[in-house]
Amino acid sequence: MNGLRPKTLIISHGHLDHCGLAPNLMDLEPEIYCTSVTARLSGLLARDTLKISEKRGHNIPYYTEEIQEFERKARPVEYREEFETSGFTACFYDAGHIPGSSLVYLEKDRQSLIYTGDINTIQTELLNGAETKLPASDILLIESTYFGRNHTPRARLEKRFIESVRETLDCGGKAIIPAFSIGRTQEIMLILKKYGLHAYVDGMGADVYDIMKRAPEYIRDFNKLQKVFTSSNIVDPEQRKEIIKEPCIIVTSAGMLNGGPVLYYLNEIYDDPKSKIHLTGYQAEGTNGRKAIESGYIEDRSVIIHLNCRIELYDFSAHCGDTQLKELVKKFCDNGTETVFPIHGDNTQGFADWIKEEIGVGATAPVNGETIYI
Ligand SMILES: [Zn+2]
Repeated sequence: MNGLRPKTLIISHGHLDHCGLAPNLMDLEPEIYCTSVTARLSGLLARDTLKISEKRGHNIPYYTEEIQEFERKARPVEYREEFETSGFTACFYDAGHIPGSSLVYLEKDRQSLIYTGDINTIQTELLNGAETKLPASDILLIESTYFGRNHTPRARLEKRFIESVRETLDCGGKAIIPAFSIGRTQEIMLILKKYGLHAYVDGMGADVYDIMKRAPEYIRDFNKLQKVFTSSNIVDPEQRKEIIKEPCIIVTSAGMLNGGPVLYYLNEIYDDPKSKIHLTGYQAEGTNGRKAIESGYIEDRSVIIHLNCRIELYDFSAHCGDTQLKELVKKFCDNGTETVFPIHGDNTQGFADWIKEEIGVGATAPVNGETIYI
């Protein structure tokens, strides 16, 4: 920790890099605010982290009691519902990134700040894009994950993906689709269904669907999602052996091949040139997914597995691409924003430079650990 003792935790969304250490802060007895979905996803991820740490003999990051305390204390706030905390007025708006993801508005002494969290302004099968009617703000903290890079347009990406899955089945192969459990699994299931393809789902993506069932209003078309997740396609561990015998489509975790049921399936298909791994998102350095794409192997419990099956990567990102990020900043600045802090990216300095040069407002890329008083 950096010595700060926050009185309030505001969690933008239930991804590990945004909520992962929340249970560690319970001794400070902070007020906790997030959407109901974010609270449930954070609890699910914390339990999963604890389980993995115990299994792999890593340091235990927190205890079950602290996770329970976090869940008890989290005060659910819905989009556009104003609340007061630590002298600030605050409000959440839909960030369109994953179910329950929020853009955070804060106001105090007539100074306002918006933190985008992770944000996607494009509509997907699972979610509406981010809210378009946002309040004006003096200060903007904006994510910059994809600054300098654009995504393949969705329609073209979907077409390539579906053609590849179909081709795999037509050749008699198995299509293994690793996907992040939160958002990506459900999105991929919806896309496959749209093109009339039946898929099995195995892993935490099914647990996340259970959380979505409890808050259907966060999903663009919950009825459609419900039709996709039926008891007939959620895989029980005992069924895996049978399912993988025949050509099939399996959407499974982990999305970067670093654990989870996907490793069972990869052990079954790695030597089959007819089968294919369809990665569906970013593969971080050092992960099995990155090794598979760049060097054609993965590691499972210290055993190196060379892949004879085919492998492809599809960029189904849930973040704004370069064009949308720039549009977003322009829109805020047109509306009065005077200071921008690009954060959460490999090239935040490049984004800050672009903002200063192209828009002409103040922009600073903070470095990790830096304190800035505003
Ligand atoms: Zn995220």
